[in-house]
Amino acid sequence: MIRTNVEIDGYEKILHIEHEESGLDAFIAIHNTKLGPAIGGIRCYNYNSQDAQLKDALRLSEGMTFKCAAAGLKHGGGKTVINALKIKDRSLAYQMLGLEIEALDGSYICAGDVGTSIEDLFRINDSTKYVAGITLDSSLPTALGTHTSIKTLLKRDGLKTKDQIFTVQGLGKVGKHLVEMLDGKIEAYDPFVTELDGVTHIEESKILQGEFYVPCALGGVLNGFSLASIKSKYVCGSANNIFDARNDIITAHDMGIKYVPDFITNCGGVIAVALDFQKKDYKAALTTKLAKRINTILDMSKDENVPIQHIAERIANDRLK
Ligand code: NAD
Repeated sequence: MIRTNVEIDGYEKILHIEHEESGLDAFIAIHNTKLGPAIGGIRCYNYNSQDAQLKDALRLSEGMTFKCAAAGLKHGGGKTVINALKIKDRSLAYQMLGLEIEALDGSYICAGDVGTSIEDLFRINDSTKYVAGITLDSSLPTALGTHTSIKTLLKRDGLKTKDQIFTVQGLGKVGKHLVEMLDGKIEAYDPFVTELDGVTHIEESKILQGEFYVPCALGGVLNGFSLASIKSKYVCGSANNIFDARNDIITAHDMGIKYVPDFITNCGGVIAVALDFQKKDYKAALTTKLAKRINTILDMSKDENVPIQHIAERIANDRLK
């Protein structure tokens, strides 16, 4: 195994590992362990350059630090990024990676991510105890956290989910779980899912016309264009990065749109993985405790007249100071 430490400002440890026989070529990036051991998935992807692979490891591990802080976890951010193009013996590659993670002595806990299967995680588990959520389908806790976020928003206005019509964009892994949890009426648009029990399928042009918009597909859904025509009073779904640009946060605030920041709404996956490592159930963390955290953010936003997103970012950043 060839191990090279890469020094980059702002990162605690970046290890580049190369294993000739298996073709393993990976960066393990530990961004920050101030709140506790770093946690983050293993991405296995076709990278055309080492530069692109390292950039992804840096970007994703830093994102995990913020996500853990926002989720109230005692964990920091880490990520492993493997170049799939170089793998010769997949099973051996993941076992070798497990040995390297074990050698980090618990400063980094790995989990699944894009390109890494349950089978791969079992191979990692052959050589390290620092792996979590092996058989966890993260879309289920993500949907549960989203459901709690939706209920909390409505409850503050004295409303119940059963009396609402929800307009869901995207009926993928999270969207499907979510529509099963929601007891109101569901209308939805997904170009690839056009028949689903209990759902009224609508045209794309109608997604911003309902009272409660639930984005569960793409990011950047609140942008200059959509905010000029949106009729929805509530916006809350699992989609990452709902605001296209920073000034869209101000526009949504001035328009009085009620929402929960995406990184709070969709924190279910990371919370479930962290609790799986502690052999604890995630239900309470994604229902009562999450609702409490959301209410704190919404109260502060109201009291200070500051956008909800800015308050949530401030709380997460304060934890990291
Ligand atoms: P997915 O790929 O399973 O589903 C996405 C669905 O969106 C697909 O059915 C697709 O056909 C549909 N879609 C694509 N373009 C669309 C469009 N323009 N309008 C309507 N539908 C469209 O993804 P997922 O795992 O369900 O994740 C949904 C969102 O939640 C993503 O933004 C993802 O980043 C975010 N998220 C997911 C998780 C998780 O655990 N799966 C965790 C955090 C955040």
